[in-house]
Amino acid sequence: MRVVVLLLLLHVALPVHALADQCREDIYLQILGAGGPELDDGRTSSGYQLWLNGQAKLLLDTGSGTSISFGDSGADFATVDAVLFSHLHTDHSADLPAFVKGAYFTGRNRDLYVIGPDGNHLMPATGEFVQRLFGKNGAFSYLSDYLYKGRERFQLHAVDATEPGENAVFVKDFSWGLVAALTVHHGPVPALAWRVDVGHCRLVYSGDMSDNTQKLAGFATGADLLMLHMAIPDNAHPVAQNLHMSPTQIAQIAKRVQPKKLLLSHFMKRSERHFNESLRLIRQQFHGEVIIAERLLTIPLSHSDGAE
Ligand SMILES: [Zn+2]
Repeated sequence: MRVVVLLLLLHVALPVHALADQCREDIYLQILGAGGPELDDGRTSSGYQLWLNGQAKLLLDTGSGTSISFGDSGADFATVDAVLFSHLHTDHSADLPAFVKGAYFTGRNRDLYVIGPDGNHLMPATGEFVQRLFGKNGAFSYLSDYLYKGRERFQLHAVDATEPGENAVFVKDFSWGLVAALTVHHGPVPALAWRVDVGHCRLVYSGDMSDNTQKLAGFATGADLLMLHMAIPDNAHPVAQNLHMSPTQIAQIAKRVQPKKLLLSHFMKRSERHFNESLRLIRQQFHGEVIIAERLLTIPLSHSDGAE
């Protein structure tokens, strides 16, 4: 009898504590593009936006076509505080100029942060990337007033998210929450995973990465929504495996993190050919909710009452 009472008490007590720590904000992730760089895959390239209290606050990557999706979503660019880049490949960054120029026709009057990885011999750092686009000698130098104190109503602030140490993360505070970056391995290309914390809600975005460093799962602990890119099948060429995580690696990460929701995105024809098999591999190890990204799909981070 005493055991039954104890169990009943635990049953009542545990959910109350758990509910207090649950994500209850009005927060959603929306897919602007769930594809890679292929031209004939019927998808826009990768990009996502975070909605908070009915306003778009963040863009995560701006691959080609994402500015069209942004318009279709009904979002207003005037409310966006930052663009966070996972890396600077075209399928993640090509629409940045479209957003900056398009902003002219909105009521935007707040500065825009553009935050992304540091550079190397292959890729410019994010600050240099923005200079090469909008600087005085940039391809779109006619927009250079956005970088210098000019006549425009807002300024662009480009930030290289360099890490102070191997396990340290870049962090930036906004009025509504915190964003943090972790260096990840995407072959020879500097790349970041991003974590966004708003209240008790946590979103983690892998970007494109192999899991060679095996650091993502630790970074993603406590994620309500974990978004991983599934660009290859398990039997992909070694070159592709050096750039992207395999479905088996996705399964292992999801199993460790145990997110409330696992979102798969960045599909390519090579991964779609093996889609069912890859999904089966993932579901063998991860038994939670798996969501397949598609353009304009909107996913709440919060949980309904009683959800664990
Ligand atoms: Zn990509």
